[in-house]
Amino acid sequence: MNFVCVFDLDMTLYNSSDFINSPIAHIYYNSFTKKSLLLYLLNTMPCAKFIFTNATHSHAKLVLETLGLREIFPEKHIISTDMIDNKLKPLLETYVLAEQKFKIRAPQQTILFFEDQLQNLVAAKKRNWTTILITDTRTTEACPDFVDYCFKNIEDALVYFSNVMKKDGIISN
Ligand SMILES: [Mg+2]
Repeated sequence: MNFVCVFDLDMTLYNSSDFINSPIAHIYYNSFTKKSLLLYLLNTMPCAKFIFTNATHSHAKLVLETLGLREIFPEKHIISTDMIDNKLKPLLETYVLAEQKFKIRAPQQTILFFEDQLQNLVAAKKRNWTTILITDTRTTEACPDFVDYCFKNIEDALVYFSNVMKKDGIISN
């Protein structure tokens, strides 16, 4: 199976303890913690990785830079609201635009979509994406049917899917 990973950015690749929520831009952007374990896990995942965010492109680049994850997501692998006429998830059209830009398609590929907002997983499921909720306030049992998986944080999710890919023969070690 051909896996593809699509990530929401804010509160999915990091959580509230990773930064200072200051209205002053330089304090806010300089406060992010480098995510070395996440960098390692992303590097070991043998699949294309993309960012699909409701934030702006400049915000995405700055946050990825300060998290130490910029190398994982080249320019062509990021879609932000200002690139699609300020359209936002959960509008179904934005998911179709993401599929077109990234040249991905489910169910031909397994699109793993990591997202912290429940409502943004509804449209993803309509496009046959595999829906993964990242939240520390909800258990898998307490999730609606359109949520395929639920994890406390992105690192736990990536460890799980790394193992899935290993079992599927994608990683040969
Ligand atoms: Mg988010």
